[in-house]
Amino acid sequence: MKQTQLFTKTRKEAPKDEVSKNAQLLIRAGYVHKEMAGVYSFLPLGLRVLHKIENIVREEMNAIGGQELAMTALQDKALWEKTGRWSDDVIDVWFKTALKNGSELGLGVTHEEPITAIMKDHIKSFRDLPVAAYQFQNKFRNETRAKSGIMRGREFLMKDMYSFSRDEAEHQDFYAKATAAYLKIFERLGIGEITYVTFAGGGMFSKFSHEFQTLTDAGEDTIYVHEGKHMAVNKEVLLDEVLKDLDIKREDLVEKKAVEVGNIFSLGTRFSGALELNYADANGASIPVVMGCYGIGPTRLMGTLVEVFADEAGIVWPESVAPFAVHIVALFDKEGKVKTVADELYAELTGKGVEVLYDDRDLRAGEKFADSDLIGIPVRVVVSEKNIASGPATAFEIKSRKTGQIEKVSRDAVIKLFA
Ligand code: ATP
Ligand code: MG
Repeated sequence: MKQTQLFTKTRKEAPKDEVSKNAQLLIRAGYVHKEMAGVYSFLPLGLRVLHKIENIVREEMNAIGGQELAMTALQDKALWEKTGRWSDDVIDVWFKTALKNGSELGLGVTHEEPITAIMKDHIKSFRDLPVAAYQFQNKFRNETRAKSGIMRGREFLMKDMYSFSRDEAEHQDFYAKATAAYLKIFERLGIGEITYVTFAGGGMFSKFSHEFQTLTDAGEDTIYVHEGKHMAVNKEVLLDEVLKDLDIKREDLVEKKAVEVGNIFSLGTRFSGALELNYADANGASIPVVMGCYGIGPTRLMGTLVEVFADEAGIVWPESVAPFAVHIVALFDKEGKVKTVADELYAELTGKGVEVLYDDRDLRAGEKFADSDLIGIPVRVVVSEKNIASGPATAFEIKSRKTGQIEKVSRDAVIKLFA
């Protein structure tokens, strides 16, 4: 992608009403556009990052046998009444709307009800189990506070997976696999070390759940971390009996700010019971299906990565999700020598399938470097008259966005680095 062609422009200032660091940087660098508080559009650069996060999640869900589907955002009131979750007293973040004839609809906050209804058509006998299905979908939640940028949207992307098992043992088996898959995701995103499996309350679903909490001062949650066991408990369950069960001592826990990036629950027969999702066992007896649900927030994760890795100069993407692998920054000369060399390098790298952003704009070096730092692509290759003149072995300057380390290398070395 040539930067002269990219319609998004970087900007010096974020909107005045934007208080979160992640949204300020993402807006300034041209990744997202703020529609209103808690509502953001994803621009070409932002969508590239989001798709990469999504793909990492997708690969790990597929690896444990998840099957992808896409459910509707519009929700049938009658279905949610059957489980007692239509009322605003039960789910206080519903966005609701109505058909022309007056009948009410909801915009999906989560999808236990519709997936259970779908599975009623497909799960009949023990042979149809176990099953796990997942989707990526924009969820709608009328959040009271939306001051955390894309980490707390009123419309946001969620990956939600639902599992269906014959019994508790089979459920626990899948739950363990899902936990491991989640940990792999955070590892691949570069936040494995600072993301803790956190023992948490089960909300309206069950007594307990597991949250995945990433340490950051931008987080809205407080957790109590056990460094030795690399686990944590959240505020709700910081109780003597819970700590005893987990075999941890209160004095070994350290209070930290964190953001919940994922949350998984054992649902038991809470939904299969209410919606009569049963299967016939080997003897023909009708048994309610045992369910689990597994949520993760790709947009919240994207905001978290910005919060965790950014420095004073701007965003610093981990390689696994950066919008491009390399940023060619050309400092043009009058004779057009630099342009020829930079154009060729761009053509060769893109020809080899490398994702390149090429700053071919007619701007001063300082402005280009500042933009490059702000955008946060892992490696910058500077093509300049001076570097070219220094001879073929040192004709290109590469700089790591993360470490700031600079190296002068040959053209072949640049190609080898990426292709
Ligand atoms: P929170 O406590 O932060 O409001 P939640 O517990 O309501 O989150 P879940 O219902 O567990 O969220 O949703 C699953 C995942 O979806 C969360 O772990 C998070 O990654 C993401 N998520 C939830 N709410 C939002 C939001 N408003 N904006 C962005 N991502 C969200
Ligand atoms: Mg949660």
